[in-house]
Amino acid sequence: MTQLQVTHPVSITSALLNASTNPAIVFAPQLSSSMAPPTFPNGLTLYEIGFAALKYPSVPPPPQRNIPLNNIVGALQHVPPASQHHMIAQIASQYLNALIEYQKSDEPILHDQSSSEYYMSNALLLINFLMGGSPDVCKRAAQHPALLNDVIEKLLEPDFVDRMKAVDRPEVPPFPPPTFDADFGNVLQFVSTMLLYRDEIEGLHPRISELIPKLREWKRTFRNSPVKTIKNASERLVDQIQGLDPTMISMMRRMQENSLVCGIVSCRVTGPERLTVCNGCKIQRYCGREHQKADWKYHKHICNKGLVEPAED
Ligand SMILES: [Zn+2]
Ligand SMILES: [Zn+2]
Repeated sequence: MTQLQVTHPVSITSALLNASTNPAIVFAPQLSSSMAPPTFPNGLTLYEIGFAALKYPSVPPPPQRNIPLNNIVGALQHVPPASQHHMIAQIASQYLNALIEYQKSDEPILHDQSSSEYYMSNALLLINFLMGGSPDVCKRAAQHPALLNDVIEKLLEPDFVDRMKAVDRPEVPPFPPPTFDADFGNVLQFVSTMLLYRDEIEGLHPRISELIPKLREWKRTFRNSPVKTIKNASERLVDQIQGLDPTMISMMRRMQENSLVCGIVSCRVTGPERLTVCNGCKIQRYCGREHQKADWKYHKHICNKGLVEPAED
């Protein structure tokens, strides 16, 4: 097995690989069965992120195949913020379309109320993580209102919380067991982040305001939860739905916009007005033609590729 590694002197990839303080991230140019998966030094692979999220049964399982995606997203959150922004752009350039299409699909597990995937799927968890660090990802997600409206529809179900609590969340040692609180916090965070881009969502769920009394109740019920997101997002969502707090919304959007970085990691240019977006994936950004050209020999392998279906043997 040959591992195709991308080595060019100024790319994020080589910078991350060479930085001993950062978890190294190797991005495979393509995900095909003839290539070794890209690896994180702690054993997590981007390959697993994609396949844990999308569950490709035809792919031979990598050694840590069963690492739950919430643990992988947890690991991603520990990457230092500057690298995290580069990483988000790269993961999203490659996977976002596939994740969105999967989440909107008829995949039975997504529609099975007895499964935790019905309430917070692995794909949605990863989309939520990517949205948190990129307005470009949010805008893409906002073009698919079904993503948000489907979650709102579920939150409106009278016994949503009880049923979401009751599902089986299999523990995979040595990781801490997944919890209802973490899943619920992620659901609320997803709705809140999507609503920052409300102006761009065509056909928002008509009954969204019916969530307000429920959110007030959840804020009270979960005020002592170790997952602070439940209380905080519930409170924020009431204001967001009522359209009470445009200052907060523009502040949060500005924060996301300022997290945009040039695709060349050694380049310090940040912020939307100084960066232009790649035409292919509409995610990765560059300070100008020179850096876009310098990164292309790497970026072309992940630009808008989605997951590459491996050849059947
Ligand atoms: Zn640059
Ligand atoms: Zn691109």
